[in-house]
Amino acid sequence: MDRLPIFLSLQDKPCLVIGGGDVAARKIALLRRTGAAISVLAQEFNASLLQQVAAGQLTRVEQSYGSEIIRQFWLVIAATDDAAFNHRIAADAAAASRFCNVVDDNAASSFILPAIVDRSPVLIAIGTEGNAPVLAQQLKNQIEAWLPARIGALAAQAGRWRKLVQKRFSGLRERRRFWQDFFTGPIAEHLLAGRQAAAEKAMRAQLVGTVVTPATSRGEAWIVGAGPGDPGLMTLRGQNLVGRADIILYDRLVSEPILDLARKEAELIFVGKSAGSNAMSQDAINALLVRLVREGNRVCRLKGGDPFVFGRGGEEALALAAAGLPFQIVPGISAALGCAAYAGIPLTLRGVSGSVTLATAKLDSDLGPDWPQLLNAGHTLALYMGVSSIADIGEQLLHRGLPPDLPVAIVENGTTPQQRTIISSAIALARDAAAAKIVSPAMVFIGESIRAASKLQWFEQSLADRSAVLDGGFGSHIDCARLIETG
Ligand code: SAH
Repeated sequence: MDRLPIFLSLQDKPCLVIGGGDVAARKIALLRRTGAAISVLAQEFNASLLQQVAAGQLTRVEQSYGSEIIRQFWLVIAATDDAAFNHRIAADAAAASRFCNVVDDNAASSFILPAIVDRSPVLIAIGTEGNAPVLAQQLKNQIEAWLPARIGALAAQAGRWRKLVQKRFSGLRERRRFWQDFFTGPIAEHLLAGRQAAAEKAMRAQLVGTVVTPATSRGEAWIVGAGPGDPGLMTLRGQNLVGRADIILYDRLVSEPILDLARKEAELIFVGKSAGSNAMSQDAINALLVRLVREGNRVCRLKGGDPFVFGRGGEEALALAAAGLPFQIVPGISAALGCAAYAGIPLTLRGVSGSVTLATAKLDSDLGPDWPQLLNAGHTLALYMGVSSIADIGEQLLHRGLPPDLPVAIVENGTTPQQRTIISSAIALARDAAAAKIVSPAMVFIGESIRAASKLQWFEQSLADRSAVLDGGFGSHIDCARLIETG
């Protein structure tokens, strides 16, 4: 971050704009929205600025420019069409410890003006540190489209009710929960729909209501799937709950950007397990979850992939149910689905694979002795937690009479920028996996539909293209050495 976004209070503060053309006029219009006391120094004023001066909305600086003038102002905007002059103003401002914006000159500016979404009092500032103003503009448009039109009215009304709510709920946590529910609840709905009277009525009922313990003060658990790695693959509902939780219990496979969604007061507790070393036993996790919810916390139990697919979410939900505690479960994209999509492996493919099984690498014990028939009948196996037994998987396939060229794919760190896909076969699996030094987490896929992957490498291709651009070379880390041709 090169620049700190801040919201300046400029009401009645003297600000200086140097330049009197259209560009200066645009900056002046923006400053005027804040109630700043604006002085303009220019040789020539455009018609609109002249009018504003005549109406007493701007002060015209009569003297010609000299560096001493700058000290009288909080902010300076250099908006002349003379680049050298603009730079001189910026240097004078720096010498006088005043912030200066030079229009269309990011490097010379000690502050820049972001693209703004203004639904006052809700304000969103978007900046690209001068790299891509058009992108900032496009983001602004997208946010404008996505933001409810009356969000400003909603925030303003909440501001007017703050004192009442403070009186009604004395505890900080109670109050925060009230507001958390408020903004997603029926009163906010009324306000966003412009139904002021209905909103006020509902609010009165809430505040004078006889409910002693508001439903919102109960603890609750949210067992949430965070998806396989790419933070974009998490559900909106999951993201929303992460942002509302008091405490987040998270696993090793949950990515940083998802944890960044947490409130800054939220407590983050790592309870992850990685193969071999248990940070916390499952029983201890269940007990912790139950205790924290009982204490009245909103606990988000954040898991990689989907909580109910080899995530032990079932056990945690059962522990909560046994303790009579409320919980919700939010699905996530499981590694099998995420990795298959990002590696171009159709789990089912018309005429090739008509069913799919999610299992772990313990084939016989997970699937029973008949699993080879499944594969012979056109089936895809998606195996979790298989890294340590990859060689063994190849052997089992051959030992059970499956064809040596039966396609097997390994997808390591699927859906992340580190994703690697190794396409191999039953006979070559052990050798290929060893050569590629596969590490956890990785999924192993087995089945004929994997052959299609040679034509469907979209994600690693895009990673390779990106690194080629960055390196100025054409390096690719997709291991296509053993890509099997279709047919
Ligand atoms: N609940 C999770 C699975 C947890 S078990 C889910 O639904 O995805 C952990 C196993 O998931 C790992 O050993 C690995 O086999 C697989 N896995 C999880 N994330 C992965 C990723 N990004 N890439 C490849 N495999 C992954």
